[in-house]
Amino acid sequence: MERKIKHIFFDLDNTLWDTDKNSMLTLKSIYENLKIKENHKLEFSDFFSSYYIRNENLWALYRQNKVSKQDILEKRFKDTFLEFHINDENLWKNFDDYFLTKIMENNNLIENAEEILDYLVTKGYILHIVSNGFIEQTNQKIQDTIIKDYITTVTSGEEINKRKPAKEVFELGIKKANASVNDSAFIGDDWEADVMGALKTGMFPIYFNYKKENYNKTTEFPIIKDLLELKNIFN
Ligand SMILES: [Mg+2]
Repeated sequence: MERKIKHIFFDLDNTLWDTDKNSMLTLKSIYENLKIKENHKLEFSDFFSSYYIRNENLWALYRQNKVSKQDILEKRFKDTFLEFHINDENLWKNFDDYFLTKIMENNNLIENAEEILDYLVTKGYILHIVSNGFIEQTNQKIQDTIIKDYITTVTSGEEINKRKPAKEVFELGIKKANASVNDSAFIGDDWEADVMGALKTGMFPIYFNYKKENYNKTTEFPIIKDLLELKNIFN
């Protein structure tokens, strides 16, 4: 790498915090507590696949400012249950209440997250988070885990009502970090929101292919499948 990186910015969800795993575990426990399988003859796996796709789509629309935070909260469970012809307002409201309070009980990090954060801080890099997540949840995910010991600043797109890949979100992160685009790298699992956004802003992007998909892309920036590969880049 030609330029000298001092600040390393991370996305949070599915880059450091294992959102997919934690959501799945939380949903499964609520599902069992509310006896949905027994009462509605619906397998958790079917419910979860439908929820997962719907939730991803809602977040994609949120990034494009086409739906609000409130829309996500209102629709993700309601529409999933309705797809399976379970028309029970109490049920989806209960589900949503439980989800927001119980998600923090599952706090798994992405494999090797702690080791790489420790390595980078020891090497003298200053670490930051820039997330599209809601402010309150973002802060809680950091405060409740070891991530808080390594991170200097936290930025949420919600602070300025913008979402990555909008440049303004990256620029706010850089400003809060007292960094500059030239000495900043960005690591995230979302090609469009994280990698293209950081590239457009002028930061050095790194794509974290955490689903370990096969890519034939030739890029001018690194693509990693394991966070420990960052040791080869920041040595
Ligand atoms: Mg992410």
